Amino acid sequence: MIYLHVPFCRTFCTYCSFYSERFRLQDAEPYVEALLQEIGRREEEIRNTLALNTLYIGGGTPSVLPPSALERIAQALSRLTGGQYEEFTMEVNPDDVTAEYAAFLKELGVTRVSMGVQSFDDAALKRMARRHTAEGAVRSYVALREAGFDNISLDLIFGRGTMVADRAAGAIAEAAESEALEGEALEGEAPEGEALEGEALEGEALARSQAAWTRDLDVLLSLPGGPPEHVSAYQLSIEEGSALYQMVEKGRYRELSDEACERQYLMLCERLAEAGYEHYEISNFARPGYRAIHNSAYWSGAPYVGLGPAAHSYDGSKRRWNPDSLEKWAQTVYSSTASVKKTGKSRPIECCSTALVKKTAEICPNECRTDVGVLCDCETLTAEQKRTERIMLSMRTCDGIPESELRTLCGDEKVEEMLRGGLLERIAAQSHPAAAISQQPANPQQPAISQQPATPQQPATPRPFSIRIPERKWFVGDAIVSDLL
Ligand code: SF4
Repeated sequence: MIYLHVPFCRTFCTYCSFYSERFRLQDAEPYVEALLQEIGRREEEIRNTLALNTLYIGGGTPSVLPPSALERIAQALSRLTGGQYEEFTMEVNPDDVTAEYAAFLKELGVTRVSMGVQSFDDAALKRMARRHTAEGAVRSYVALREAGFDNISLDLIFGRGTMVADRAAGAIAEAAESEALEGEALEGEAPEGEALEGEALEGEALARSQAAWTRDLDVLLSLPGGPPEHVSAYQLSIEEGSALYQMVEKGRYRELSDEACERQYLMLCERLAEAGYEHYEISNFARPGYRAIHNSAYWSGAPYVGLGPAAHSYDGSKRRWNPDSLEKWAQTVYSSTASVKKTGKSRPIECCSTALVKKTAEICPNECRTDVGVLCDCETLTAEQKRTERIMLSMRTCDGIPESELRTLCGDEKVEEMLRGGLLERIAAQSHPAAAISQQPANPQQPAISQQPATPQQPATPRPFSIRIPERKWFVGDAIVSDLL
């Protein structure tokens, strides 16, 4: 499994706090050169994760890269991977997708396109500083379909709040400017017809947000060429470091209440279930057979290699992360490469009191930041960290976790208590959510699922069960997981 991070965006969304650099065409070439160096240096590591041969190019905005840059990257990787991916996903911004670009992606071998639409409401798109329009997003979607893509995922954002009218236009531009975010789409753009007067009623904000979300779902499900195979929907969150955070601090943006966000989430679950989607992870919905293979493997704890600035990697016990700076990442890639070339052979280097690394291309297996030419910081997960991750990741999914494993990790008493309280439910292992056999046992002392044989003559065969958080509680899933931990 390979994740490749493209750390560039043309403009910056108001809600974003991810690391990303403003894209300049002249940066593409040096970025690709450094990436090819990194790919070369981590060849063995990449080969070791190919039990699942998937490639995910994410960002940032990978679609800002010119086709020639993407071709060089794909060619370098295909020498190691064979180029026949079980899934090859690329994230795109609708504004970058033309008929030609869609045809190019197909030619490149992309099998799945993930497009950040976020909303089909132009006023909402402006407020979020997205650089595309609703009409543009639909046009790009059609272009992808016409290029032959039959596995498209669209991202949406729910729980969008409201601008407060008082100097709203100036406030947005000021916030973007003060954060040096260069939110071009925002400057001088008042969120027309959307900003509420200073003390506007919560009810009005709520009604607007609800109506816009309803329209978003209506458009999503009636897209020309048929609805997408996959939908990822995230709640708008106010992250420190984002332009939106500044606006909230200054009282210029009104967040939606948790209750209103939950209503929108439940509406999303209901509408997509009616349309035949499987809700297989808290934020992800797929038509049968279209779950994201790459992302599903993350949630099951599979190893992966992350390439590029800020990319994380995991080998089953160690996690490592590249510098979240284009410059520092490139420096490290080149200095490490030079160091390996200079020494010409593997030699042990002491990097911390308890660990030796055999050559500069390897990383310290402990939590040490000693400069031995390592590419990144790293940590070896403790047993407790592994337990926490296993519970957190599996509880995000509709498949949950095998009951016997959860009982070992959390204890019988805790699991029983949460089953009785309806915060967890027992299902047939590996089943589709629709196969949930019972939401709640009639008698809490009894298992929810009958284990009686079909006929009295047949011996009872114990059925494997899994435990998960019921879908109706996923909105408060984090609190339930905290309780479990
Ligand atoms: S959320 Fe917006 S600004 Fe942030 S990485 Fe994605 S496209 Fe770029």
